[in-house]
Amino acid sequence: MDINTPIQYIKGIGPKRAKKFNSLGIYTLYDCIYYFPRQYEDKSRFKKINEVENEEKISISGVIIGFESRKVKENINISKIKVKDNTGIIDLVFFNQSYILGKFNVKDEIVAYGKIKIEFGTRQMISPQIELKDKENSIGNITPIYSLKNSITNNEVSNLIKLALDNIDHIQEYLPENVINENKLCSIDFAIRNIHFPQNRNSLKIALYRLVFEEFLILQLGLFYLKSGSLNKNGISIRKSPKLYDIINNLPFSLTKAQMNALEDILNDMESKTVMNRLVQGDVGSGKTVVALLALANCALNGYQGAMMAPTEILAEQHFNSLNEILSKFGIKVDLLVGSLTKKEKEDVLNKIENGYIDILVGTHALIEENVKFKNLALVITDEQHRFGVTQRNKLSTKGENPDVLVMTATPIPRTLALILYGDLDVSIIDELPPGRQKIDTFAVPKEKRDIAYGFVKKQVKLGRQVYIVCPLVEESEAIQAKAATELLVELKENYFSNLRLGLLHGKMKPSEKDEVMKQFKNGDIDILVSTTVVEVGVNVPNATLMIVEDAERFGLAQLHQLRGRVGRGEHKSYCILIYGSKTEIALQRMKIMEQTTDGFKISEQDLKLRGPGEFFGTRQHGIPELKIANIFKHMDILKKAQKQSRLIIMEDPNLTFEKNKKLKQYILNKFKDKLDNISLN
Ligand code: ADP
Ligand code: MG
Repeated sequence: MDINTPIQYIKGIGPKRAKKFNSLGIYTLYDCIYYFPRQYEDKSRFKKINEVENEEKISISGVIIGFESRKVKENINISKIKVKDNTGIIDLVFFNQSYILGKFNVKDEIVAYGKIKIEFGTRQMISPQIELKDKENSIGNITPIYSLKNSITNNEVSNLIKLALDNIDHIQEYLPENVINENKLCSIDFAIRNIHFPQNRNSLKIALYRLVFEEFLILQLGLFYLKSGSLNKNGISIRKSPKLYDIINNLPFSLTKAQMNALEDILNDMESKTVMNRLVQGDVGSGKTVVALLALANCALNGYQGAMMAPTEILAEQHFNSLNEILSKFGIKVDLLVGSLTKKEKEDVLNKIENGYIDILVGTHALIEENVKFKNLALVITDEQHRFGVTQRNKLSTKGENPDVLVMTATPIPRTLALILYGDLDVSIIDELPPGRQKIDTFAVPKEKRDIAYGFVKKQVKLGRQVYIVCPLVEESEAIQAKAATELLVELKENYFSNLRLGLLHGKMKPSEKDEVMKQFKNGDIDILVSTTVVEVGVNVPNATLMIVEDAERFGLAQLHQLRGRVGRGEHKSYCILIYGSKTEIALQRMKIMEQTTDGFKISEQDLKLRGPGEFFGTRQHGIPELKIANIFKHMDILKKAQKQSRLIIMEDPNLTFEKNKKLKQYILNKFKDKLDNISLN
């Protein structure tokens, strides 16, 4: 059968059962055989009965020599099967499962797998699996354990995969022969068959190595093509304008050393003939905006246009205002393009940008719309880049002829992940906060003690400060989030803060309404802003000194850190209170990390460990296929090898046109199907 055949055509499956498996994301034979086990139960290790050790999980084989069954309490019945080999005796112990005894007879030869308990010299195996020896045994094998859903059993999945594999003669290799040989990889056919039905431990190891290596390799190559829109290409050389230093001297503050270094990196890149492809990483509040501002100014001073894209309208507007305030004095024209402009306003901006009247355009996704045409775009900046997909970023670049690219993120990316995501991006790190910043004191408070937190809110407001209260994260739906925020507002207003001025902010409000609320909050006309996570990125209101997050354990740590970064932006002492509802071990652990750590890098490293890379960022947003089998912590060494290999391939055959790379190319294109659509790989 062809590997892309839907599973319903497998003999013995049919449409009804096929549908059930669809819920696991299994549609075709291909999905089937690439549905990798989550873990394994190793029942292949046998020991003699007198060699078993306390607490270990092991298999034994022997002969049944007797049975025992007795009631120990009203509801508890203990049954034992006594088994002997030529070294000793062991009791297989079952609780309330006396029926098992009826399945076996004295003198039966059996195999059993389970956990050993040795007490007072008596060897026991507790609730083991037991099988007759000559039957087709699962004991003796390594059993894969799959992720399951909708009452599908592990056996069903395993059987389906077996059927699928029986229907495929030989899985076609797609890695080039030299890659296989040089990295000592097994064939894909061997790897797939052994990842599901390992012959032994060693063959499983070999299979796993191949699949992990391949997954990293494909990811690296795929990412290379996603990014290659602006890689190693010749671009415009933009010199450092002497006037830039006038602007720097005119800033209301002096730049930190880290900001200076990042700016220096950027200016050097802009001056070079190759296209800049740089990531600026800096913790919340480290002052990335002004670095972007200066890069854009340098671009404008050289007569070119620059663009800066932000994920929310609130943020775009804020950037526009700060850029405009500083740069208009120097004759640099900054403008704003967001979805909420009237048709006429929009047309006006579009005209000005096309004829070159505007030097710097700040905006949201509106910037990448079809009708936006620049005269001579030479620098594109994406702020809070983790909020955008790779393709969106690339689209902005296509508005110019190989413009320089700068991406900024306040979600510090752990080194491990950065290595994957930005393997070929240059990175500048702003690892210093502007002077005078105070530590934000963070407290985790259980839900029952909410009142204390709200009492503190009143105190802050009395002092003239302002407060954010972020509503619980319900799910990734703006509408439901909006409802949650609205309900929280009503509750707070009725029960706690009837005398205070409350405002509401959520993603479902009209842009003009959002603006109005933000303006009121900035002007101090609102004491407490009840909000969804739309305030997460970038918002800057220095008089706000208290951030309260409801049901904080539901948020990712990096996100909590971002939210916390909304306060502590002015001269006043600031606080963050995390109200938590769940008291599971992991929830408490997360709260503790937030209380004890202020370093965004450390926090995201922890976050990544707790949640795994998939969830950490929502790979969806990155346009990156999820890692199915590779684990960036466990398989770091393989990642490095795969990365090296991917570089070799790219150096030798950048467009994968060589005959030997043809299948590999096809495979990558398939994997990155939707994501590579606006990139030509010729
Ligand atoms: P982020 O890196 O989180 O985007 P911003 O660029 O919004 O941070 O900067 C946060 C605040 O710090 C802003 O109010 C900005 O004006 C201020 N700021 C930036 N750089 C400095 C500096 N060198 N000295 C003092 N304040 C600064
Ligand atoms: Mg910012």
